[in-house]
Amino acid sequence: MSASRKIAFIGLGIMGSPMAANLVKAGHHVTGFNLTQPQIDALVAAGGHGASSIAQAVRDAEVVITMVPADPQVEQVILGEGGVLEHAKPGSLVIDMSSITPQTSIKVEAAAKEKGIRTLDAPVSGGEAGAVEAVLSIMVGGAAEDFAEAKPLFDALGTTVIHVGPTGAGQTVKAANQLIVAVNIQVVAEAVVFLENAGVDLPAALDVLAGGLAGSTVLNRKKANMVERQFAPGFRIDLHHKDMGIVTAAARAVEAPLPVGSLVAQLVASARANGDGSLDHSALLRGVERLAGREVK
Ligand code: NAD
Repeated sequence: MSASRKIAFIGLGIMGSPMAANLVKAGHHVTGFNLTQPQIDALVAAGGHGASSIAQAVRDAEVVITMVPADPQVEQVILGEGGVLEHAKPGSLVIDMSSITPQTSIKVEAAAKEKGIRTLDAPVSGGEAGAVEAVLSIMVGGAAEDFAEAKPLFDALGTTVIHVGPTGAGQTVKAANQLIVAVNIQVVAEAVVFLENAGVDLPAALDVLAGGLAGSTVLNRKKANMVERQFAPGFRIDLHHKDMGIVTAAARAVEAPLPVGSLVAQLVASARANGDGSLDHSALLRGVERLAGREVK
């Protein structure tokens, strides 16, 4: 167990709730704030503390962690009126673990510097299960000494924790992660419709595929969702749509072509346009069913 730190945790959603609870379990003093109260109550029940505003949560914190949906919420929570930079102590460390554009991480770092506050961008991969089991992959951008200070906290949340470069680099790596995951889910979904149309025993087929070169974490973690058509999130298609926007823009900025990624970004957008935005991203399967002229289950 690492030395106990005073942590403010802003954003107790699907990911933030279990992550904050894991920091409590590791012996830290965690004060949480969220837009809705039940998640704050759950953190208190898990041994943490609740706050009624960002100001109250961050006032005494040595470390502030944010885990909110997207760029606008990060800007509001950290840079906005009544936000983290207005109320956090000089010398504190702000770690944004949301998945956002590298540009916003750079903007946050510049604004924080003016207040004597340090920042890291530390997006995660591994999904809700990874957050609950504290086995996330955490890709961190920022100064090496700030990473070293935060490492014991990251170790309470994940098992693969890597400093990948300066501010924004964590978000760039996360964008690549989301590209790989979306394309992988799409092709697994295509294989599922192909196998079902061909009349093959689907669970048996996916089990044997998972043991060979076609195996992947996506296949292991999402095959039950697809077999059972169980699409409660997990990771919402709305959020993956946001991430496909981030990766296509970031790749364009560095002149990296993404021919397959761009196509899958369109299919994610189509899933959303068909009303599937609040479903788990494994529901890309429904889009393949639509393309195949099949009943969408
Ligand atoms: P979520 O929608 O479940 O949770 C977001 C939380 O932020 C909500 O509880 C909301 O109340 C809170 N919030 C929003 N605005 C706020 C504000 N102004 N002040 C305080 N709280 C505020 O989202 P999530 O699935 O937990 O995802 C969070 C981030 O993590 C996203 O950037 C997402 O892309 C990323 N992510 C998610 C997963 C996943 O599997 N769900 C995996 C890896 C990364």
